[in-house]
Amino acid sequence: MHDVDVLAHPHTGRPFDSPVVPGTGWPGDPATPQTPVAVDATQVVALSARAPSIPELNAMISVCRACPRLVTWREEVAELKRRAFADQPYWGRPVPSFGSERPRLLIVGLAPAAHGANRTGRMFTGDRSGDQLYAALYRAGLVNQPTSVDAADGLRANGIRIVAPVRCAPPANAPTPEERDNCWPWLAAEWGLVSEHVRAIVALGGFAWQIALRLPGVAQGPKPRFGHGVVAQLQSGVRLLGCYHPSQQNMFTGKLTPAMLDDVFTDAKRLAGIK
Ligand code: SF4
Repeated sequence: MHDVDVLAHPHTGRPFDSPVVPGTGWPGDPATPQTPVAVDATQVVALSARAPSIPELNAMISVCRACPRLVTWREEVAELKRRAFADQPYWGRPVPSFGSERPRLLIVGLAPAAHGANRTGRMFTGDRSGDQLYAALYRAGLVNQPTSVDAADGLRANGIRIVAPVRCAPPANAPTPEERDNCWPWLAAEWGLVSEHVRAIVALGGFAWQIALRLPGVAQGPKPRFGHGVVAQLQSGVRLLGCYHPSQQNMFTGKLTPAMLDDVFTDAKRLAGIK
């Protein structure tokens, strides 16, 4: 056992436990102490099916406890922290999607990073992948600022929504097939609430591509293959764009460059009809 420290949020200065208790004032926390908690896969199915709106869906996602291994891991990481962030509270909960509730462009990632989104509580925020992604989104005019450091930094989306097929940080960045299945109903329900607005999807990596093709009503028949720069016209009318994941490894080795990200997001913005 470790002592639970109450630490000040790096932006707002308010004190928080790690993990953060729902409804205690964390910037952007969608939940309250009354938000229903899914404790197994059956309850994820039941609760996701009755979410009437994006805010309520986000709230339920953010308190989910359906995957025992991931709950233990995300909370342990939140408590122990990385030395560089030892003076900060960690979110330590599932990370809800970020962005517009009526997105024209959906961006599909993988899962939160242990010391990134699991710390800050916002998708892709607080790690190197996110630094690259948000800088590119800013250059494309899809967010209002080039950096995304914490959930109170004023970042706003322009017609985009960033989602993930697994909402909890997994050990070694590797969720099990069962954990992916457990989390799927949250994303399927979210898609049901936003799909009428979505004109284009950017899949960050091959797994995200497969996930995008599984979204209800998106694609029938033969499935297009993932590749960086591939643009698939799906039967639903949605365009699916492939992009290598902006991981530290891909960016460091030059497999993915800022210019390549710019090409994808410039295309995606045009295909989505975002001004
Ligand atoms: S990965 Fe998804 S289903 Fe599993 S605990 Fe996290 S939010 Fe719930």
